[in-house]
Amino acid sequence: MALLDLIIIGAGPAGMTAAIYAKRKGLTLQLIADSVGGNVTKTGNVENYPGYKSIPGPQLAALIKKQLEDMKIDIKLSRVAKLEKAGDYFMAMAADGTAYEARAVVVATGSKWKELNVPGEKEFRNKGVSYCPTCDGPLFSGMDVAVIGGGNAAAEAVMDLIPMAKKIFLVVRSTLKADKVVVDKIQSSDKVAILMGYTVDRINGKDFVESVDIVSTSGGERKTLNVGGVFVEVGLLPNVAFAKDLLEINDRGEIVIDERCRTNVCGVFAAGDVSDVPQKQIIVAAGEGAKAAMSAFTYISTQKC
Ligand SMILES: Cc1cc2nc3c(=O)[nH]c(=O)nc-3n(C[C@H](O)[C@H](O)[C@H](O)COP(=O)(O)OP(=O)(O)OC[C@H]3O[C@@H](n4cnc5c(N)ncnc54)[C@H](O)[C@@H]3O)c2cc1C
Repeated sequence: MALLDLIIIGAGPAGMTAAIYAKRKGLTLQLIADSVGGNVTKTGNVENYPGYKSIPGPQLAALIKKQLEDMKIDIKLSRVAKLEKAGDYFMAMAADGTAYEARAVVVATGSKWKELNVPGEKEFRNKGVSYCPTCDGPLFSGMDVAVIGGGNAAAEAVMDLIPMAKKIFLVVRSTLKADKVVVDKIQSSDKVAILMGYTVDRINGKDFVESVDIVSTSGGERKTLNVGGVFVEVGLLPNVAFAKDLLEINDRGEIVIDERCRTNVCGVFAAGDVSDVPQKQIIVAAGEGAKAAMSAFTYISTQKC
């Protein structure tokens, strides 16, 4: 296969936007992804993407995909199993054994939101179960909600929800590991009740979430919290397995990048949720994809990092 200018791995908002920018710059490219649309396809209604007051996630993903099709950008539907440096170019090995070679690479493989794996979680996803307070918080205005988790993501979710929710139960399995400054703020809010030493047993409801059962980790004491929303904030798992021997990864498993989306390896760029950019949002991922493609173009044109 001929040497390409650019391989883009991942077809969520970051990878698809990178492809649009790269194509318009005249780069030869191959987009490789195991599915098209990424986490946008798992979103009920997106209400924070400019230009759309409210749009179902799958519809937004389909519109971007159509734009790629109109631009004759080919998407190879496959998982990338390995990314390697081979002399002065890079080789991405697809799971079916096809090898793609290019001068530069944009990694845009996103993350998986860690799940609780309890009864009711899947059934009530987008019906009261959410993984993203920034996305869904306003839907729970004036309601009682539970936030599950003890790290910074959970504490920040509580901070996001304080202005809108009526009451917030923070359910922590062991100890609160969030930064002290955030913990102090949530502890001083009379809207927040912190329940330490509890895990979630099941999420209940009819059409939407109505309550969550929690059980104490020490004695098995059970409680039912009557809430209309459950925010699962137990972490993200970035999809980096194929590149972990090549790229610098931080302790959250994210690819470390600079302000131009450059990784530690000259010629490899990363964008969106797989990177250490803190805001995991569609608009941010799209913006970072655009930045990564433009940085790749500069690198390919100048051969300077
Ligand atoms: C339930 C839910 C609701 C959300 N709601 C909102 C919202 O309302 N508003 C908002 O702004 N954000 C929302 N988000 C967050 C938003 O979806 C993400 O921030 C965004 O999709 C990140 O884009 P991305 O392109 O970085 O990654 P992703 O969208 O995760 O896309 C990753 C891509 O990489 C591919 N891939 C992964 N591994 C490999 C591999 N090894 N080989 C090849 N391809 C691979 C995937 O198939 C996919 O195509 C929500 C997320 C979830 C889970």
